[in-house]
Amino acid sequence: MNDLRHITSDELATFLVENGEKKFRLGQIEDWLWKKGAQNFDEMRNISTDLKKKLQGNFTFFNTQIETMVQSQDGTAKFIFLLHDGQRIEGVLIPTETRVTACISSQVGCALRCSFCATGTMGFIRNLHFTEIFDQFILMNRKSQELYNQTITNIVYMGMGEPLMNYENVMRSIDLLTSPKGQGLSPSRITLSTVGISMGIRRLADDGFKPDLALSLHCADEVKRRRLMPVTEHQTFEMLQDSLQYFHQKTGKRITIEYLLLKNWNDSVNDAKRLFHFCRPIPVKINLIEYNSTDSGFERSPEEHVRQFVDFLESKNLIVNIRHSRGQDIAAACGQLVKGK
Ligand code: SAH
Repeated sequence: MNDLRHITSDELATFLVENGEKKFRLGQIEDWLWKKGAQNFDEMRNISTDLKKKLQGNFTFFNTQIETMVQSQDGTAKFIFLLHDGQRIEGVLIPTETRVTACISSQVGCALRCSFCATGTMGFIRNLHFTEIFDQFILMNRKSQELYNQTITNIVYMGMGEPLMNYENVMRSIDLLTSPKGQGLSPSRITLSTVGISMGIRRLADDGFKPDLALSLHCADEVKRRRLMPVTEHQTFEMLQDSLQYFHQKTGKRITIEYLLLKNWNDSVNDAKRLFHFCRPIPVKINLIEYNSTDSGFERSPEEHVRQFVDFLESKNLIVNIRHSRGQDIAAACGQLVKGK
């Protein structure tokens, strides 16, 4: 049986008409699906038992469930979601005084195999359907109210997977999260993070993408970056920079450059200089990320290196933020998400 949410609005309308139902039922059902985030037929309270029966006889819900939730000493909560086919993915809620950020996954596993990231060790298993991306938000949003008395304010596509390798589902999930027919969130509260697939970045620009874009650069030396992130082998810095410039021209947006600081690997002042040169032609802000321990053998940069790195970039008038790690004690931090751990 098909998931009720996998058919189009037109298909649902046809189903209703064919089953002798009034047209306004369509709006009611869609409200339950996309505004109220119904996870099953029982939740749809104002739908008659008769219609529910007809729906149940023809459709199902491929449910996403919270299998476990663990909370860190710093308030961060990690969720393991069980998908309808038994696969697992992870999501994280990160509270601060003024916001709650939800970090969501776009794939089961990841094909990229970046050398510092635990998710890569799983390999790629499958793409998430847009409803499975949407479900993570709905389920965590409910928990966010219980845990922090606040709904989710921001969403980052920084969980498992490479969003641009699951382009269509990611875009449809963003549509549901932002459209008035869905969750009505402002696109400026959403960030998509990518390893930097030039074709995908261009496509975003052409498709009128409204959220923020973050690039996981991590190394501004083209050859060294390939060792760190083997997927970048087929793409030159020139292609990457061109696509970022194109994105900026089309959207007017500043791009966030994420840079993971690895001790004695990419954290010298020389590395900072290279980063400055990489960023020069593109309006950016830079987020320096603390390395979270995985089995990769890398180490976190010492404070002294970080300070010199930041000082150099700031002397060149770049906007630099340091992203301190959250939720490390529960392996919920960036790069630590790996199936069911
Ligand atoms: N594939 C996308 C989405 C994943 S986002 C991307 O590459 O952007 C997850 C972020 O955490 C990326 O910036 C990733 O490079 C970073 N990350 C991965 N492993 C990490 C680690 N061990 N410590 C800190 N950050 C890490």
